[in-house]
Amino acid sequence: MLRVSHLTKTYRTGDKALKGVSFAIPAGQVVGLIGPSGSGKSTLIRCINRLVEPSGGAVHLGDTDITALPRARLRLARRRIGMIFQEYALVERLTVMENVLSGRLGYVPFWRSFLRRFPPAYVADAFALLDRVGLLDHADKRADALSGGQRQRVGIARALEQDPELLLIDEPTASLDPRTSRQIMRLIVEICRERHLPAVINIHDVLLAQAFVERIIGLRAGEIVFDGPPGALDMAALTRIYGEEDWAAMRRQADADASEDAQEAAHAREAAARLAGTA
Ligand code: ADP
Repeated sequence: MLRVSHLTKTYRTGDKALKGVSFAIPAGQVVGLIGPSGSGKSTLIRCINRLVEPSGGAVHLGDTDITALPRARLRLARRRIGMIFQEYALVERLTVMENVLSGRLGYVPFWRSFLRRFPPAYVADAFALLDRVGLLDHADKRADALSGGQRQRVGIARALEQDPELLLIDEPTASLDPRTSRQIMRLIVEICRERHLPAVINIHDVLLAQAFVERIIGLRAGEIVFDGPPGALDMAALTRIYGEEDWAAMRRQADADASEDAQEAAHAREAAARLAGTA
């Protein structure tokens, strides 16, 4: 369970990025964080694990008050929080397996990780995770030989290898095509359910969020202006979140993507029919 209470962040520039944000996420729930650019989504995600130091309020993970921890203990607490990034943040020249195992670096003594010697149990976990994300056959490939979607799968496996109690996910599909984006969102949501993990996904694509997550939090100018199921995200709510910003443009883009998918599916059916005809 993650509990965020009256969280505030004022940057040194005077920008009030968060103005008292409160919410709780039970185990297994995936929350999509939406809002216009500059509304505080990245700041909120980063304040949760104190990559950005909050100005006020509290973040509890289970019984631990993350905001009250001294630096040394914060490092331990961060091991309980997995992060997944937009640009994957893999070590390109290492193998897929090594990248996944790097999720354990906080747990193995330095000389062992330096020699890249991991306990067999960690390696077994990593194989199981690669299997789960559909990359078992790619374990020995270098990360830079993979497609974007495959890299993000490595990013997901690496975050899970850490055996986290919470996932923070920052724009996981921003660098992916629409179809791969949906596959990645589906995978993230399924895995969170399987492992009873709470997760916060910073996601700029409203329709993608609506299609996959069970709860949406809408931020505007550092405040929560919507918190509810995707079905409740009506025109009034979207206007509250995005104001005058033209969210119809997002809708048009989504329609275009859907029709592209429909065309691909039709081509595939035609090809199958042709094959069946010649068989
Ligand atoms: P979002 O992720 O929704 O685009 P951000 O959290 O990046 O929003 O930004 C929220 C507000 O905080 C914006 O006004 C932005 O300009 C400001 N901000 C973000 N990072 C910094 C920073 N490092 N220093 C000063 N202001 C910042």
